[in-house]
Amino acid sequence: MNKPAGTNVTVVDHPLVLHKLTLMRDRHTPSAVFRQLLREISLLLAYEVLRDLPITTRTIETPLAEMEAPILKGKKLVFVSILRAGSGLLDGMLDLVPSARVGHIGLYRDPETLTAIEYYLKLPDDIDARRTIVVDPMLATANSAIAAVNRIKDAGALDIKFVCLLAAPEGIAAFTAAHPDVQIYTAAIDDHLDEHGYIIPGLGDAGDRMFGTK
Ligand code: URA
Repeated sequence: MNKPAGTNVTVVDHPLVLHKLTLMRDRHTPSAVFRQLLREISLLLAYEVLRDLPITTRTIETPLAEMEAPILKGKKLVFVSILRAGSGLLDGMLDLVPSARVGHIGLYRDPETLTAIEYYLKLPDDIDARRTIVVDPMLATANSAIAAVNRIKDAGALDIKFVCLLAAPEGIAAFTAAHPDVQIYTAAIDDHLDEHGYIIPGLGDAGDRMFGTK
């Protein structure tokens, strides 16, 4: 785990994450393998983003003795997936925390302006009482991520973290300027964005790679 100085970014650079990410970047990796790798990496990202969940203790009896044993304090979670590529990260997170609530926000990028257009929103009513983990594999221009977090804050969320697979420096700067209170977790920070808003070297269009579309 690596926190570049002066940023609110945590890079989860575990060797397993780096290895799986390389396989995902490879253009020859088929969709089924790409999806499986994304699910596996999301478990490792979830492990880091949930590292500071509050803990309490409970008295239990092991077969040999009584003990005060650590247990989650009950801070409730909601994962919010930015459609459609967010669902690839969501699946692995739900493997780890099956009881979490799930919200969805549908945004697409206008190909001309690269701005985020919302077409769907469904969030739990009690989002203000939950830790909210927003997931989207690619933090490129950050327009979608910023718009999603705006809507989530409007709905009352107070404790928000953002998880992606790849981030561009431009996206990190824009997101941090808009939402300095929201920590970003990513597997890697790439070089730059091209003129179409794609991350270079990146992995292409995450949704297309996951679902085999073009
Ligand atoms: N969205 C993607 O799927 N890929 C990029 O490189 C940028 C945004």
